[in-house]
Amino acid sequence: MNDRQDPSAAECADFFEQIVFFIDNELAEADCTAVRKHLDSCNPCLEKYDLQRTMKAVVARSCAEHAPSELRDKVMLRLQQVRVEITTTEG
Ligand SMILES: [Zn+2]
Repeated sequence: MNDRQDPSAAECADFFEQIVFFIDNELAEADCTAVRKHLDSCNPCLEKYDLQRTMKAVVARSCAEHAPSELRDKVMLRLQQVRVEITTTEG
């Protein structure tokens, strides 16, 4: 068994997908519980969750204020960067 690699990176990448839906309240109850549990025990994911939530709030606010699309582009870019960070931290 070559199972010594920490599986958490892959797991976190999975959860990151879910976190997005979690923030949007689009997860089933069971999945919400799993995400909350993971956030409880995984600090990096909790930070990403906070970041996502903040970004979302910023986007929502700027939409309401007739956002410059430039800002939204920046936010989206940042989100993508976070995503890339997560998927590339496996080693
Ligand atoms: Zn995690």
